[in-house]
Amino acid sequence: MNTSEIMARLKVKHANEKEYLQAVQEVLETIEDVYNQHPEFEEAKIIERLVEPDRIFTFKVTWVDDNGEIQTNTGYRVQFNSAIGPYKGGLRFHPSVNVSILKFLGFEQIFKNALTTLPMGGGKGGSDFNPKGKSDAEIMRFCQAFMLELWRNIGPDTDVPAGDVGVGGREIGYLFGMYKKLAREHTGVLTGKGMTWGGSLIRPEATGFGAVYFVQHMLHVQGKDIKDKKVAISGFGNVAWGAAMKATQLGAHVIAISGPDGVIYNPNGMTDEKIAYMLELRSSNNDVVAPFADKFPDAVFYPGKKAWSIKCDIAMPCAYQNELTGEDARELLDNGTWCCAEVSNMGCTPEAIAEFQKAKILFAPGKAVNAGGVATSGLEMTQNAMHISWSAEEVDKKLHEIMSNIHHSCVRYGTQPDGYINYLKGANIAGFMKVATAMLEQGVI
Ligand code: GLU
Repeated sequence: MNTSEIMARLKVKHANEKEYLQAVQEVLETIEDVYNQHPEFEEAKIIERLVEPDRIFTFKVTWVDDNGEIQTNTGYRVQFNSAIGPYKGGLRFHPSVNVSILKFLGFEQIFKNALTTLPMGGGKGGSDFNPKGKSDAEIMRFCQAFMLELWRNIGPDTDVPAGDVGVGGREIGYLFGMYKKLAREHTGVLTGKGMTWGGSLIRPEATGFGAVYFVQHMLHVQGKDIKDKKVAISGFGNVAWGAAMKATQLGAHVIAISGPDGVIYNPNGMTDEKIAYMLELRSSNNDVVAPFADKFPDAVFYPGKKAWSIKCDIAMPCAYQNELTGEDARELLDNGTWCCAEVSNMGCTPEAIAEFQKAKILFAPGKAVNAGGVATSGLEMTQNAMHISWSAEEVDKKLHEIMSNIHHSCVRYGTQPDGYINYLKGANIAGFMKVATAMLEQGVI
């Protein structure tokens, strides 16, 4: 079967899983040529096997809220592919979480993890639990109840979850505490741990830092530097925070950050105090960015507007899937934006990507740009397995090398005959070749 036939069948079989179908379609479209050049892949039905997760666990999570009321949520873990290493990927706690979203994230994770050069397979999990407005004690009880079900299916050499939207250091702490109690072992079963109990230095910053390192490489190829460039970032979570910090350190001006309530126009760029305040805003658990403008008088809040309405050189979506639409892309292009580095997973709609590529501006996909996060999780696993911890400099140096390698792979597989670098194609082909070859060598399993 060719890739279009496989896609057509999937659309029938999983008709209501739109995010999953979108993620698969994007990959299949870009790897088609390579797939056709390798009849051994078709013979071994590699794509048919790759698009279905190995298994999905779905479980009930019951917990008691602060009013003594019993709450019921649904928990999931999608173990997608373990061809090159144990399943690896984050947990997302957000009311939108469902099987389609976790399958799309798990599928993306396979290629992303392959790109990091580290031995990690792809997985993802989470719950429709909404952390917004919950007390610390409620978060703890939920995490404990979640782990009570999950713990038998994970392990340091089996499946290693981490954070994602709604799951940060605090949640990983509660999840790890419960795992440790049940399994009676202190191992690297989760990443993103606290620094005194097995976490890796730089992990909290890694996704944002890695994304900016990737942008530096993209710019370098064009003979440009990030210094003095205007950067618009969506979101004010962990990833946006790391990206804002690194971009500022390198002399760029972060002139926009945004939340579900609107955008902050920040014409003078970030300061250490502003960057620190991003973390404070996030931990306030209210999901609003507006207070930033109350605290810093040189910043202006525009309710209901997106970061993409602010004139910038470089756009870095750091929030959710499909947050940057075709219309947003046209607005950015009209305003002269010449680089979009997707940091969120599948942050741009297919229409937005088509606009960027048609205009031949620099565009790179999340699975390449944000891979520094999971790569540093991989480094955390290595440190845990060796029972040592590396210095921040050592980890940062390795992160630099990994981002440089990922960029190199994208250029290798994505450079078009006219010289335009199709980073999307490059990332997908590089990831696919590695996983497909491993699957082929391991036989029909
Ligand atoms: N959730 C992050 C991602 O999308 C990190 C996963 C991890 O560290 O395992 O890649």
